[in-house]
Amino acid sequence: MIPIARPGIGVEEQEAVLRVLATGQLAQGALVEEFESRFAEICGVREAVAVSSGTAALHLALLAHGVGPGDEVITTPFSFAATANTIRLVGATPVLVDIEPDTYNIDPALVEAAITPKTKAIMPVHLYGNLAAMDRLLPLAEAHGITLIEDACQAHAASYEGRMAGNFGTGCFSFYATKNVTTGEGGIVTTNDAAIADQVRLLRSHGQRERYLHVSLGYNMRMTELQAAIGNAQLKKLDQFTEQRIANAAFLDQHLSDVVQTPVVRPGYRHVYHQYTIRIPESRDAFADALRARGVGSAVHYPRPIHLQPYYQESGMRVSLPVAEAAAQQVLSIPVHPGLSQDELETVAREVRALCQSR
Ligand SMILES: *Cc1c(COP(=O)(O)O)cnc(C)c1O
Repeated sequence: MIPIARPGIGVEEQEAVLRVLATGQLAQGALVEEFESRFAEICGVREAVAVSSGTAALHLALLAHGVGPGDEVITTPFSFAATANTIRLVGATPVLVDIEPDTYNIDPALVEAAITPKTKAIMPVHLYGNLAAMDRLLPLAEAHGITLIEDACQAHAASYEGRMAGNFGTGCFSFYATKNVTTGEGGIVTTNDAAIADQVRLLRSHGQRERYLHVSLGYNMRMTELQAAIGNAQLKKLDQFTEQRIANAAFLDQHLSDVVQTPVVRPGYRHVYHQYTIRIPESRDAFADALRARGVGSAVHYPRPIHLQPYYQESGMRVSLPVAEAAAQQVLSIPVHPGLSQDELETVAREVRALCQSR
């Protein structure tokens, strides 16, 4: 079975972890700092603060911006649940608006219509590695004086007109095992605002600026040296990984776009293909089963939009978001990761094509 994801861990990561173990400095230290400055440089931002997960990054970014009870945050229903969950975790209200039918990213026209005096932040998700419509969302946020928090958990090194993900607002990234680069579990917040970076640093470590001096409440959401050692090795490969994903996607486009809806990328946008997602209008799950029988793995991101999750239904969320609901029935992500051999890539293209043509 050709898997949907395969972490690109090699001897560099293995040796880096062993070096950390030999030093005995396991908790946050110099390697985390190195990871932060490298990632800040990649995003073209002044500061980056490493944390324990992408969820922690979103959570602390919201807190650092003072988002809390009584505030509304506009976001997308078509994402991993952590996007909306962190808004709830800080006591604010997620306002879910529908997505664009082609990119599956939040629809900027609907964001504008959803702004109220209570709107404190807009949290677009750069789904599958393709930036949300930043050409429209950034001016919108600026015109209304609203904070922009990017859920860039899938969008390492994605860009719009050369401006990197995590550089438009406060950026939140994940380094979970299947993301484009990984630390096993991990996350980072990127910002050009020194005060926000300072807040995130306080919140990730018990409100301490120096040890045992607590100037605020806080959490333990730090990254370890073991994770940072893996991360530093991974960041050296980020360019190569990203270029391979883009090349694999171009190959799939070339072999599939006449038989199935392939990813849509607007001019100026650099899609980094965390996922390569096609659209199967009928019996998507049967299509996935048949594909598996032909040796090709796949995954659905996401089978149930956030507003239809049991937790949100039980807590009284009643919205109809038909574009996201239809997408949840029809999207299918197929392997595009840089660990694919040429042979595997050709198999993916051939089998998907054959199945599309046989329907
Ligand atoms: C992975 C992901 C998250 C959560 O990141 P973790 O590191 O798993 O906590 C949040 N949002 C999106 C869109 C993601 O893909």
